[in-house]
Amino acid sequence: MSKQLQFKLVLLGESAVGKSSLVLRFVKDQFDDYRESTIGAAFLTQTVSLEDGTSVKFEIWDTAGQERYKSLAPMYYRSAACAICVYDITQSASLEKAKSWIRELQRQADPSIVIALCGNKADLAARRQVSQEEAQKFAEEEGLMWCETSAKTGEGVNDIFDRIAHKLPQVA
Ligand code: GDP
Repeated sequence: MSKQLQFKLVLLGESAVGKSSLVLRFVKDQFDDYRESTIGAAFLTQTVSLEDGTSVKFEIWDTAGQERYKSLAPMYYRSAACAICVYDITQSASLEKAKSWIRELQRQADPSIVIALCGNKADLAARRQVSQEEAQKFAEEEGLMWCETSAKTGEGVNDIFDRIAHKLPQVA
């Protein structure tokens, strides 16, 4: 019988960087320009199938605006197997915020947690404030996965979940 694995994944990052939109794109392949910030869903699930038949089910926790209440965070990322720390490539302050989440995870989360740094809104490259080189260099130094995505066009979205799905069985 093929293996079925399940992992908790959390999204962290400044408000409005596109966390809920990334989840909506990955789970439902939808995008909504006018959606209220934060859908408030407790969690959604999505499964990725690996080449060897293993299925990796993500239990995805969206912060639902709780990033504003920092004290709730440890409860939220405790027991997470993976985290995507999202910034908006058009807002350099959002990269600093993502870095501070990464530092917090490195201090407080399970040491085997898989962390991805994700620059969202890649479709707005004309307004870019964060260079690919800068973000990639930081990710490399910290041993993190890095990617750019657009929840709007779908660019890079399946790819990052796929990379995480392949990495998790190796560290779990
Ligand atoms: P959250 O607060 O981090 O969950 O952010 P949301 O998912 O609510 O997104 C905030 C705003 O950014 C919304 O108006 C989205 O439509 C928009 N947005 C999210 N992702 C993208 C993207 O990849 N490209 C563009 N152009 N807008 C995006």
